[in-house]
Amino acid sequence: MARHNKYDLLEKIVSAINESGWNVLYLESIDQHPFHLQVYRDAESYRVRVYTWHLTHGGGRARPKDEYRIQITGVDHFELLNGGKTLVLGWWKEAEVFAGFDVRKHLGKLGASPSIQIREDALRKAYINGFEPCDKGNKEVAIAFRPDFFVEYLQSLEPLHDFGQSQKDLAVLSEIAQNPEVNEADIQIQNVVRKTTVVSVSKKLRDVGFRKRVLNAYGFHCAVCGMQLKLVEAAHIIPVNHENSTDETRNGLALCALHHKAFDQALVTVLDDYSIQVNRNRAEELQKQKLSDGLAKFSQDLRPIIILPPAVSDRPHVDYIRIANAIRGWT
Ligand SMILES: [Zn+2]
Repeated sequence: MARHNKYDLLEKIVSAINESGWNVLYLESIDQHPFHLQVYRDAESYRVRVYTWHLTHGGGRARPKDEYRIQITGVDHFELLNGGKTLVLGWWKEAEVFAGFDVRKHLGKLGASPSIQIREDALRKAYINGFEPCDKGNKEVAIAFRPDFFVEYLQSLEPLHDFGQSQKDLAVLSEIAQNPEVNEADIQIQNVVRKTTVVSVSKKLRDVGFRKRVLNAYGFHCAVCGMQLKLVEAAHIIPVNHENSTDETRNGLALCALHHKAFDQALVTVLDDYSIQVNRNRAEELQKQKLSDGLAKFSQDLRPIIILPPAVSDRPHVDYIRIANAIRGWT
């Protein structure tokens, strides 16, 4: 029974983590709520305890109409995970938005019929912008966020909820959510941790925006092989660390993990007529090193021309393709 109850929520959490390029291990049975997970990528890793419920609208007559809440069932108190992170999450199914609550504000025995609220407008803004803090008063801040912001929420968990300590800084955080294009020097926050958090959030929001636009433009297909399977990433045509790089959709390509790597290592590229080419010099080099097994299959699986986004303005810009090929050593 427990499994059927919570399984859809666990699935949303895991797929949110995977979509950010992170992985999940189940440290306890998936039938067990709260969930106990390890979330990791490369050498970075978090142990996480997750309490989660669906968000439901409104409450009795005593509560405002414009709020959603989780009704806490099945636990009589929240237990912090030693050496890990403890999440208390709500899931707004209709708009696919999470609400993250500050567990430190809800320690101790929970009362009868306990619930935790978040304002509906914060959830709506998060759906639009990716992220929105919600001031609950008494220095408590809840965070509404889209699934693609999940890992950033996890990483910045305590600092994000600590914005409740300063109304002024909280206003800055809320502004960033609506306009993440900001220079670090223009962020008017003295507190070092909160300033670092705002910088990290604004960067993440820009990344998430780029990823969402690029993947949507290509219908979640790899532009060069057509694969979907949720194995597709948003690649920059001119790499991010190059001075001419931009987060415009037309500097992006949706690529599966294999072709993303092959593109970055210049084994395959797109030419300015949108045709797809295997790099012959690189192939020969690999042959000499006796590392070219799979090359025939690799070449066969490529489309003759990339999948093109329906909107002309989303298609790779030929200037960006030319610059990208020049800096990757294509002639
Ligand atoms: Zn591919």
